[in-house]
Amino acid sequence: MKKVVIGKEEWCALPELGLPVVKSRIDSGAKTSSLHAFNIHTFEEKGKRYVHFDIHPVQDNRKIIQSCRGLVVDQRAVKSSSGDKERRLVIRTPLTLGDETWDIEVTLTNRDAMGYRMLIGREAMVGRTLIDPDASFCLGHIAEKDVIKHYKTVINKKNGLKILLLASNPDLYSNKRLVEAGEERGHEMRFVNISQCYMNISSKNPEIHYRGGELLDDVDAVIPRIKPSMTFYGCAITRQFASIGAYCLNDSIPIAQSRDKLRSLQELSVKRIPMPTTGFANSPVDTKEIISMVNGAPLVVKLLEGTQGRGVVLAETNKAAESVINAFKSLNANILVQEFIKEAQGEDIRCFVVDGKVVGSIQRKAAAGEFRANLHLGGTASVVRITATERKIAINAAKAMGLVVAGVDIIRSKDGPKVLEINSSPGLEGIEEITGRDIAGLMIECIEKQIQKQKKKHK
Ligand code: ADP
Repeated sequence: MKKVVIGKEEWCALPELGLPVVKSRIDSGAKTSSLHAFNIHTFEEKGKRYVHFDIHPVQDNRKIIQSCRGLVVDQRAVKSSSGDKERRLVIRTPLTLGDETWDIEVTLTNRDAMGYRMLIGREAMVGRTLIDPDASFCLGHIAEKDVIKHYKTVINKKNGLKILLLASNPDLYSNKRLVEAGEERGHEMRFVNISQCYMNISSKNPEIHYRGGELLDDVDAVIPRIKPSMTFYGCAITRQFASIGAYCLNDSIPIAQSRDKLRSLQELSVKRIPMPTTGFANSPVDTKEIISMVNGAPLVVKLLEGTQGRGVVLAETNKAAESVINAFKSLNANILVQEFIKEAQGEDIRCFVVDGKVVGSIQRKAAAGEFRANLHLGGTASVVRITATERKIAINAAKAMGLVVAGVDIIRSKDGPKVLEINSSPGLEGIEEITGRDIAGLMIECIEKQIQKQKKKHK
């Protein structure tokens, strides 16, 4: 028989357990092989004893869970590396190393704290392998990202949801991450371009069609990521998905409201959420009055539907403020006038809220000579510890707007934190990179939770 030459660690497969790649430690010092397992339950079927267990097959990744089932052949007292005796179930299953596959016995134990998901002991290797103890991965190395890919295809899709990402550009970091995070959790993710959806609004049978006419009717949830220029149509499509019973991670009404800065501030003010003093008027005769309402210059003039800091202007004197306001008005642009929070020194805080929790926060600092902290305008971001008050304000602001997912921008003023604005499609790139948190994953978990809740309600 051909013997496989292996090192002290190798990638193996346990095909009958649905595990295509498992990083294993080869340990001839141990008699029996063992596999990481939790949620271990035995059951009888046709007179035979089986075990069902779950495993996190990828080291340091608790999101990928594979459910396995094996035939129990024994129960043994095994001495662990810490010297403790433990009774473990033993299963018999095929092991693949390189091109060879043979049956081995494996004990099941929680190896979560250990360096490898699997340990291959000498019993499994007798007559089959030659060990080179100084070598590693003689049978080839597999990169972490490829390990995950293997599992994406085998993961138990039984409970997977059909989730649509309703957006415009599949190559944006945030959109790619959401698709990836959903697939990692076993869901069927699909990117759908808002502009290519069309609908049939009827009281009997509302429908959404896509591209050449495909009917999008089998949808559990929708993640709307609507760019500002698509607000009107994107909200209409989101509403249509809600009407066919899909759960929307942010409803169309709060999205539309959050796109209008004045409307947002009005919603926040009703809920007594602190914000900079803000004025709004329509006719040019009120300009002076508005300026004095926000305590005069320096003040900030904002276009109501501006984004990424583009429609935000600082007027340093009352004269300049008057000219800017009147110029905007002559163009029939909707604007608001706001007290300038000078002491913030070009800094603001972005709090990312998901399902009533701040899941990440970063501080943004404006580029030199600039007062707007937007990253698109050259601002830089860093980790920040927010205060309990800031946390509460961010959560309450998202709640006041009715947004499940929101980016709440807060500015630190001498009178305490104040909300500048709320974003219903906050970007993931800066916040994930700086905080190191899997925020896309938390958004998917929120969908899972909400759908679970809906199911319970309907039972
Ligand atoms: P946008 O939606 O275009 O990003 P914001 O209202 O968030 O508009 O303003 C952009 C940036 O300008 C903010 O991130 C902040 O750094 C700065 N800014 C906005 N309003 C004020 C203000 N009242 N006082 C001081 N700085 C402000």
